[in-house]
Amino acid sequence: MENKSSETRSSTQSVDILIIGGGPAGSTAGAWLGQQNYKTLICEKEKFPRFHIGESLLPNGNRILQKIGVWEKIQQAGFIEKHGAEFTLPDRSCSVRNIFANGLVKGLEQTYQVERSRFDEILLNHAAASGCEVRQRTIVSQTIHTENGWSILTKNLDTGAEQTVLSRWIIDASGRNCMMGRNLGLEKETIPYPGRFAVFNHFKGFARAEGKEGGDIIILRLQDAWFWAIPISQTVTSIGVVAQKGARISGKETYEEFFWRKVQESPFLSESLSEASPLDDYRIESDYCFSYETYGNDQTLLTGDAASFIDPVFSSGVYLALESGFLAAETVAKQLRRKNKKVSPKLYTHYTKSMKDRIGVMRRLIESYYDNRSFEVFMFPLPRLKLPRAINSILAGCSNPPFNVRWRFWLFRKICARHMKKPIIPSIHWKSFSEKSKVMTNKA
Ligand SMILES: Cc1cc2nc3c(=O)[nH]c(=O)nc-3n(C[C@H](O)[C@H](O)[C@H](O)COP(=O)(O)OP(=O)(O)OC[C@H]3O[C@@H](n4cnc5c(N)ncnc54)[C@H](O)[C@@H]3O)c2cc1C
Repeated sequence: MENKSSETRSSTQSVDILIIGGGPAGSTAGAWLGQQNYKTLICEKEKFPRFHIGESLLPNGNRILQKIGVWEKIQQAGFIEKHGAEFTLPDRSCSVRNIFANGLVKGLEQTYQVERSRFDEILLNHAAASGCEVRQRTIVSQTIHTENGWSILTKNLDTGAEQTVLSRWIIDASGRNCMMGRNLGLEKETIPYPGRFAVFNHFKGFARAEGKEGGDIIILRLQDAWFWAIPISQTVTSIGVVAQKGARISGKETYEEFFWRKVQESPFLSESLSEASPLDDYRIESDYCFSYETYGNDQTLLTGDAASFIDPVFSSGVYLALESGFLAAETVAKQLRRKNKKVSPKLYTHYTKSMKDRIGVMRRLIESYYDNRSFEVFMFPLPRLKLPRAINSILAGCSNPPFNVRWRFWLFRKICARHMKKPIIPSIHWKSFSEKSKVMTNKA
C-alpha cells in the first residue's frame, strides 16, 4: 500500500476523524467512514505486515467484515476454515466439540483461523481502498483537546517529519497501548481476575485431525493453566499456554522452560508436540485483562483493546474489536451529520453500554471456564433443554443473544452456581492426569 507522500503535505492538515492504530478495530472504522465520504486518517506506527497474536476468529465477526465489504477478500485469502472449537482435558479423554452449525442462532456456522500479519494487512489495505487515508510508520505522539475537536501531533518514524493534524473526532484503536484512555485520564474498572501471562510460538509438525475437524481451535485445560492450538496454515500451528502470574518456578525457570513443563502435564500435547519444531522465539504477553469505566469522552471513542480486554480463552478479542470499530464509526458519523450540535454525554454512555453489554456476555462465560467447578458443567453439559446449543451460539460470538439463548445461558449459570454448592455432575480428578503424565514423562 502506498503512503501518500508527506513532502507535498502542508504542515497542518484537517480531517473529520483521526484513527489511532490500524489493527482490526481501526481498519474497520476507517473502511466504513471512508465509504461514507468522511475525511478519515489512520495513523499506524508499524509497517504492515507485522506479527500480532490473536489468530482464531469468531463467526459473529463475519457480519462486520461483510458490512465493510472486505468479506470476499478474506474468503479468497486461503485462511484455514474454522467450523468449531474443541474443549478438552489434558489426556483428551473427554472433549466437548462445539460445532458452530449446531448453535441456536443461524448464520454463525463458520469463520477462519488467520495469520494476523496477513489478515490485518488485508483489512488495512481495504480501509485505504475505501477512501480512508492510511499512513504507516506514523505514530500519534501527542493529542491536545481544542474548542473544535483535537490538535494531534504525528511523527513519521522513518523520516522524523512531524505534522499537526486537526480533527473533529478521535477513534482510539491503539490496542493495549491505550493512548487516549491514558491521555484523557479515564478510570479503569477493577477486574476481579488474577494477573495472567501467555507464552506462545508457531510450530511445524503438530499432528492434526483430518477434514473439517482439523480446522478447529483446541483449548486444553490443565488444573491451573490452559493451552490453545490454532491451525493457522496447512503446516503451521500456533500454540500457547496461559497461566497465573507466579506460576513459574521463581528465579530459575525461563518462559520457554515453563511452556515445556506445562506441555509435559498433558499426555496429549507431549505426544502431539514430540515431532514438532518451533518456528520463532517464544513470545510473552502478560497482564492483559482490563477495562475502562467509560469508553469515550471529549469527542473521542475507545475501540477494541484500547477500551477493554478481558481474556483470550474464547477468542473474542478480534470479534469485539470489529464490533466496536464499526459501532464507533457509526456513532461518530451520526454525530457529524447533526452539524454543529453539541455532543450529548449520552453518546458516550450509549456507546459504552452497547459494548459493555456484549463484553459482559463473553465475560460471564469466561468466568465459568476458569472456575474449576463451573468448568465441570462446561465439560459435561446437560443436553436437556438445548443448553449446549445455546452455549455454542455464545462461543460463536453471539454477544447480543436473542431470548432463546439468553434464558438458557442464565440457566447454565444457575446450574454452575448450584454445582459449586453441592456437586450434581461428575467431578474431574486432576490428580489422575498428573499421574498419567508422570508415566509419559518417565517413558520419554
Ligand atoms: C495471549 C493472547 C491471545 C489472544 N488470542 C486471540 C484469539 O485467538 N482470537 C482473538 O480474536 N483475539 C485474541 N486475542 C486478542 C486480540 O489479539 C486483540 O483483541 C485484537 O488484536 C484487538 O484488536 P485492536 O484493533 O483493538 O488492537 P491491535 O490489533 O493491537 O491494533 C492496535 C494497533 O495500534 C497501533 N498503535 C498503537 N499505538 C499507536 C500510536 N500511538 N500511534 C499509531 N499507531 C499505534 C499498533 O501498532 C497496532 O497495530 C489474544 C490476545 C492475547 C494477549
